[in-house]
Amino acid sequence: MSVAHAQTPILGFTPASSARQTDIENKLKSIPSADEERRQHRIFTAEPHVAGSKRNNELADYIAEEWRKQGLEDVVIRRYDVYGTNPKSASLEMIAPVHYQATLREAPLDADPDSKNPAISGAWLGMSISGEVTAPVVYAHSGNPEDYDLLRKNGIDVKGKIVLVRYSNPYSYRGFKALTAQREGAAAILIYSDPAESGYKKGKVDPDGPWGPEYYIQRGAITYDFMVPGDPQTPGWASVPGAKRIPIDEAASMPKIMALPLSWHDAKPLLEDMDGPLAPADWQGGLPIQYHLGGERVRAHLKIEMDNGIQPYYVVEGRIRGADLPDEWVVLGNHRDAWVFGGVDPSSGTASMMEMTRALGQLAKLGMRPRRTIIVCSWDGEEVGLTGSTEWGEQFAEELRAKAVAYINVDEATSGPNFHGQAVASLAPMLEETTRTLQDPSGKTLYDAWKETVAREKEEGQQSGPFQSGVVSSTLADTRIGSGSDHTVFLNFIGMPVIGLGFEGDYGVYHSAYDDFYWMNHFGDPGYRYHTLMSQLWGVTALRLSNADLLPFDFASYAGNIRQFVDELTKGKDMTPLDLSGVRKGIDAFEAAGGRLNDSLNRKLASGQLDRQLAQTLNRGMMQVERNWLNPDGIPGRPWFKHILYGARFTYAHLELPGLTEAVEKQDWPTARQQAEILERALKKNTELVDRLNSSLTH
Ligand SMILES: [Zn+2]
Repeated sequence: MSVAHAQTPILGFTPASSARQTDIENKLKSIPSADEERRQHRIFTAEPHVAGSKRNNELADYIAEEWRKQGLEDVVIRRYDVYGTNPKSASLEMIAPVHYQATLREAPLDADPDSKNPAISGAWLGMSISGEVTAPVVYAHSGNPEDYDLLRKNGIDVKGKIVLVRYSNPYSYRGFKALTAQREGAAAILIYSDPAESGYKKGKVDPDGPWGPEYYIQRGAITYDFMVPGDPQTPGWASVPGAKRIPIDEAASMPKIMALPLSWHDAKPLLEDMDGPLAPADWQGGLPIQYHLGGERVRAHLKIEMDNGIQPYYVVEGRIRGADLPDEWVVLGNHRDAWVFGGVDPSSGTASMMEMTRALGQLAKLGMRPRRTIIVCSWDGEEVGLTGSTEWGEQFAEELRAKAVAYINVDEATSGPNFHGQAVASLAPMLEETTRTLQDPSGKTLYDAWKETVAREKEEGQQSGPFQSGVVSSTLADTRIGSGSDHTVFLNFIGMPVIGLGFEGDYGVYHSAYDDFYWMNHFGDPGYRYHTLMSQLWGVTALRLSNADLLPFDFASYAGNIRQFVDELTKGKDMTPLDLSGVRKGIDAFEAAGGRLNDSLNRKLASGQLDRQLAQTLNRGMMQVERNWLNPDGIPGRPWFKHILYGARFTYAHLELPGLTEAVEKQDWPTARQQAEILERALKKNTELVDRLNSSLTH
């Protein structure tokens, strides 16, 4: 006991259980090894394994078998029959003013044996429609609505034409680009990777550096999953075999446009021959040419044949049954499907998961079984509309709402050394505390390394990729959680608190054949040290949530975060038509209640005297708080997205207070008032709940 009292207790733990937990964590941290991470990574990156493919299904069997060997329990492979997408053929031919046949392939690199694998797919975008068109090509910059406004100002109409857009500058999700082109009446959209964003303008290219080479092609799906994710034909329910399906033409998330990605090698001939006005300075890219808007001169013939239709996706599920509280669940997940080899995305995460589960299995064998049940899932079809996790979440929604403590997602475990941690604000303090106990390869604690990364990125004003940094001043954790990975169903549909973990770095080969074992071993994580650290971090975070005496939720922190969201929403806007004083009072009350509960919980934990029944009441109550942020009707126009604090824009960018924010932006004041009332009611409900929990402690 003297040892236990000598150390600072862990959030949510009594002094005695802190000491025990520290022993367990030290044991866990000693298990993952860089050699094993590398060995697992090689297995997952050996062959292309896109969703629905034979190889990806074999990997599901492999994971299930490994998990059984590692000591996981109740390992099952769940099948979902979903509307999937596969390429049949694609050709793009420039027919005027000169002839050019696009290669639509990624050239092999001598240094990288995997890049010569004949199973590598050509250029394709998931959920493109099939079709054929011969039409002029217009350059539409990033393909966002304001880009088409500029084209219109220049007298350029894209109706019936082929639009050529680049991936970033600024970043927007390719599905949003496709929807925008569809709304503008374009016949097809070509999306290419400009060297200014992912290639030689950034630095050395693969095989000499981490950036995308001349033939780099970014595949991806264009599903409109910002409307509703998952199988397009089963919005809101699970695609278990035999499930009811809506007609595909009625599916809100289905694109109605042809779409194809290009390397800059294939985009350059189209761009350099374009006529029309010179494109503005911020539309100019990294190629040594003058970018024009185009109009009539460049014409192309595009033909795409897709094989879209029902096919099975497989989710692997395993668990370590909780020793004390088997009906309280901590859920962990990573997707398995990759566009090609998936060196970073997702196989770095998959390798880390396999080492994390090996460690958890060993602990259980040593008698260090978690108190709560840990469920681990290998998702399928994340890359195609977040499908596996969405269907699984929809299937078990009721049970998860009753039992789940939190979901921890790891998609890309590492593309470099910079840690990014996302968490709903109630879990931000526990995540930060957890990183203090881990060692970064730089020699600092992970916490200190994280702090430096956050400071540096703030200075650089870095806004990269779908996971734009949204760090709130008081925390290191990014508490602005948009969509774009498997946490979505858990947060936005089920109302579970979520955490997302990943290390990032210079990464110019996203969703291409070059994102592979070679790339990881030369640029991403040559010593597999960040893979190892991810296995440790993921495991320790899961064990803190599964072993805590009282769940480490901080609702005062949550309230502060919500206040910041409201401040940002109202900043610089004329809010006269909308009275938010009730919302603000509600936030103050929730913050005060959260503060009181924090104090009482800490006192209780410090006393070391914790009645089992009381702990159960408190934990169940705290789990309910996140559920109370759900509005069963969803946000206006998007009923599947039920969380009133978190949502995502169509671009995938995070969107706080989604229903309220969108209404304010449209100046739709009746809807805004309605959304504010919903928020106010939820705040009141959670304040009362937290106060009730507090009085059960103090009386
Ligand atoms: Zn991914």
